[in-house]
Amino acid sequence: MTTVFAIANQKGGVGKTTTSVNLAASLAATRKKVLLVDIDPQGNATSGSGVDKYDVPHTIYDVLVEGLPVEQAVVTTPEQSGFDLLAANGDLTAAEVQMLDLEAKEYRLRDALAPVMDRYDFILIDCPPSLNMLTVNSLAAATSVIVPIQCEYYALEGLTALLQTIEKISAVLNPSLHIGGLLRTMYDPRNSLSNDVSNQLITHFGDRVYRTIIPRNVRLAEAPSHGAPVITYDVKSRGAISYMALAGEILRREQTLRQQARARATEN
Ligand code: ADP
Ligand code: MG
Repeated sequence: MTTVFAIANQKGGVGKTTTSVNLAASLAATRKKVLLVDIDPQGNATSGSGVDKYDVPHTIYDVLVEGLPVEQAVVTTPEQSGFDLLAANGDLTAAEVQMLDLEAKEYRLRDALAPVMDRYDFILIDCPPSLNMLTVNSLAAATSVIVPIQCEYYALEGLTALLQTIEKISAVLNPSLHIGGLLRTMYDPRNSLSNDVSNQLITHFGDRVYRTIIPRNVRLAEAPSHGAPVITYDVKSRGAISYMALAGEILRREQTLRQQARARATEN
């Protein structure tokens, strides 16, 4: 079974791309087969993975709009980070409008991924900072959503709207979608606002909040300019250790979910 994570939050700058790239690299480091899908026209996950977004033969645009098979669009380079990548760049801005006229427009990504699904243990989709057709496609293709939340200002109001949207999409387009977890990012223990946000999240959402906390760590901010995930750039940094811990937590959660599903299947 492949787990498809959409990394989503309509706010920009909360750590979606940082989480997508570094979680992809950390899961790949545990020998899982991982595909990272960049579906943000900014293409930050592409460049952060060490791929030149202006010099790739194909991007996700070709897949979503032209119907190019994913196998032909996937980028794998030796310099790159141990996972496969569907790249994105500014071409994708036009896709949103072009897709409106296409058949099954909400399911373009899900249908495109179907033939390669069993090649991967995890597919991670780095969403744009809005709830547009690209994000709807991501949520329709996903089994689970990771919501990064910046622990630096009150983020709970926007969060409620996002969770309602996820529930709506799950009711209308994708019943198997659920919240994988809320992820605290850019956490600074010396900042009392960080602690307040973190405590409020735990109070409201309990065990839907990942236990792993991603600290504010300058190595995480520097790594993309070297075109590398942080575990390649500085494996001993707190940023690297925290994303490896998140990968561990996710693998344990997945194992528990699978055991529960098996137990239910034998009961029935
Ligand atoms: P988003 O994809 O949600 O817009 P990014 O992952 O691009 O957010 O992060 C926004 C900015 O914050 C980037 O410059 C990134 O390098 C930086 N950043 C993200 N997470 C951290 C962190 N834990 N510590 C320090 N800087 C971070
Ligand atoms: Mg981003």
